Amino acid sequence: MTETIEAKLTSAIRDIKDFPKEGIVFKDITPVLKDPVLCGEVVDSIVEYFKGKGVDAVAGIESRGFLFGVEIARKLNVPFVPVRKVGKLPYETISHKYELEYGYSEIEVHTDAFEKGQKVLIHDDLLATGGTAAAAAELVNKIGAEVAGFSFLIDLTFLKGSERLNSYSNNIQSLVKY
Ligand code: AMP
Repeated sequence: MTETIEAKLTSAIRDIKDFPKEGIVFKDITPVLKDPVLCGEVVDSIVEYFKGKGVDAVAGIESRGFLFGVEIARKLNVPFVPVRKVGKLPYETISHKYELEYGYSEIEVHTDAFEKGQKVLIHDDLLATGGTAAAAAELVNKIGAEVAGFSFLIDLTFLKGSERLNSYSNNIQSLVKY
């Protein structure tokens, strides 16, 4: 029997205990990146799911959202937009501040990143609490574009991130759930 992409990802993704701080189990996707066939399957299954759903642009969240985001956009034949931590983008920006477990973070995009009314797929490697992806969705809305959906390699379902994202879009795809 051929192994599912979920099974292949589950065996490739490496758990690193207490990184970057005690109590966190970090999901390390670098072993996935070493497997070009698996990388192709990741991109293809996300593209397959969102094909025909009217995606006009893909927004990848810094930095692991860039790894597959560019290729997903290329295969959907739409623009790729980097969503970056504040202070990294060179042109005029629009930013959104959001709360973390301890303190705040801020992300931004260029003011000309999206056209008004465009439908944007937000992509990152992992969905935890959903705070980062929700902040990216706020940026999309601030510019006057819409959220077409979200895609992740990994969903830490016990943190209920998808419940938080439902108000932006119900199209939430994750390839592996923990
Ligand atoms: P959140 O905003 O809580 O959904 O966190 C998602 C962001 O934090 C993503 O950009 C992830 O790459 C990163 N992240 C959060 N938790 C983990 C984890 N356990 N392993 C790897 N990355 C994580």
